Amino acid sequence: MAEKWTPDSWRSKPIVQVPDYPDKEAVADVESRLATYPPLVFAGEARKLKAQLADVAEGRGFLLQGGDCAESFAEHHADHIRDFFRAFLQMAVALTYGAQQPVVKVGRIAGQFAKPRSSNIEKKGDIELPSYRGDIINGIEFNEESRIPDPERQVKAYRQSAATLNLIRAFAQGGFANLDHVHQWMLGFVKDSPQAHRYQEMADRISDALSFMRACGIDPDNTPQLRSTDFFTSHEALLLGYEEALTRIDSTTGECYATSGHMLWIGDRTRQLENAHIEFFRGIKNPIGLKCGPSLDPEELIKLIDVLNPENEAGRLTLITRFGHDKVFEHLPAMVRAVEREGKKVVWSCDPMHGNTITANGYKTRPFERILHEVESFFAVHRAEGTHAGGVHIEMTGRNVTECTGGARALSAEQLGDRYHTHCDPRLNADQALELAFTIAENLRK
Ligand code: PEP
Ligand code: MN
Repeated sequence: MAEKWTPDSWRSKPIVQVPDYPDKEAVADVESRLATYPPLVFAGEARKLKAQLADVAEGRGFLLQGGDCAESFAEHHADHIRDFFRAFLQMAVALTYGAQQPVVKVGRIAGQFAKPRSSNIEKKGDIELPSYRGDIINGIEFNEESRIPDPERQVKAYRQSAATLNLIRAFAQGGFANLDHVHQWMLGFVKDSPQAHRYQEMADRISDALSFMRACGIDPDNTPQLRSTDFFTSHEALLLGYEEALTRIDSTTGECYATSGHMLWIGDRTRQLENAHIEFFRGIKNPIGLKCGPSLDPEELIKLIDVLNPENEAGRLTLITRFGHDKVFEHLPAMVRAVEREGKKVVWSCDPMHGNTITANGYKTRPFERILHEVESFFAVHRAEGTHAGGVHIEMTGRNVTECTGGARALSAEQLGDRYHTHCDPRLNADQALELAFTIAENLRK
């Protein structure tokens, strides 16, 4: 691994979970075009995020990362982006209040298109077709033609990411994210929730804090920290040809940054030490995430950390643990102890989604109570180990979908078919996402 790294050195390593494009020349042509396109994000922004995550690693902040499992071309709509952002900001306010610390906001958005799959084949009745791998690779429609990987989709994903990012930048900086607005939306959520009594007290305390600030002469409209917010993008960097094409040398430091998003992560299925994904990630300077599932041995994790963060730089590496609601106590303490023993600086984040997927009434779903249980177990382990429970990583949307069962409205398996829109995994709807944030905020105050 001490060999020289280049943006394409991953190409000589074994690789899994990538499409087999029928026309290799067309792929090379798309990649060379993408390499001439403007970067989506700038190295300086990635460094800013890394500095904020360094504070989280040192126990002075909390990471909120969330968004779609898979963005899609069909659902590329300003209203969806707005609704996501609105729900996400409300979560961030509840968490800021709970943690009494800054919340680092990172969306799974503006680039979250490529999906690893547990099977190469999808079967419906007697028909077998190649699996859907995300809109950047092939189509979700269940027919032979749509499932053929098409490299031109990469250009479309790039352009959609640019448009999404443009709107998000406007929302974050242009007054939409004003704390007063976000708080008013939150009061609306609390009023309408069947569990209102559980959230009312915290909402009232936030109202009091805002009234107090206003009485002291602090007006959110005229206070940059309250009128706007930092917001960063992230995705699973699965499709390495696309990522390589958007990897650029930063003119101020001479170092390589992936410019497809601020933070990239490595999926649980592509974290093999000798493989291409680890090779690509070790050379880019962005803050990165590593998904850690039940099959990851703690000693293997230490080896991965040595390769991915040899300088032990705080903020560089976020470990996103995703075990399943009943497996956290079995796996997390050993991982935390190994990392502590070796003195590694990491952000510990909890993905309570990917270990809790079941099938009910013919739909892939996630019971809300299991999601809650995984998060609470994560907090309990970090409390016991004396380490900082640094963040959460969730799949959510701002829309009123019916994809995860449970929550305050007790969504049943029979209701899943009503508004089941996801292109891949089931997401929390806006209400469920906020309920989760309130529960986490309570945990943070313990
Ligand atoms: C995901 O985050 O959508 C995902 C596929 O996660 P994991 O790699 O943890 O299974
Ligand atoms: Mn997913």
